[in-house]
Amino acid sequence: MFCPKCKAEYREGFLRCTDCDIDLVFELPPEPDDIPEYVDWINLISFPDKYEADLAQGLLEANDIEAVTTSDDCGSAYPSMTYVQGIRLMVKKEELELAKEVLRDAEYKL
Ligand SMILES: [Zn+2]
Repeated sequence: MFCPKCKAEYREGFLRCTDCDIDLVFELPPEPDDIPEYVDWINLISFPDKYEADLAQGLLEANDIEAVTTSDDCGSAYPSMTYVQGIRLMVKKEELELAKEVLRDAEYKL
């Protein structure tokens, strides 16, 4: 028996954790050990269509800068939103300046 809060192990017969005063469980839930690293994506530039966004994304990736494209179409549920907001190209906060340089070199207007 285990306490789900303090993770103390108890012998059979115990039903409550004496420290936490909560019910013991037979098995502890598995520890989440692969929590994805939190990434702070920063909006770099917006494009009117996906094709241009993909081109710029490819350019950044060729320079070892990770980039993602997003649009506010809620997973294509509202495709018309894409045309209003455009496709946003986002990069990691720490690579923002580098990404700007790469795009400026390629004559993008930032
Ligand atoms: Zn406990």
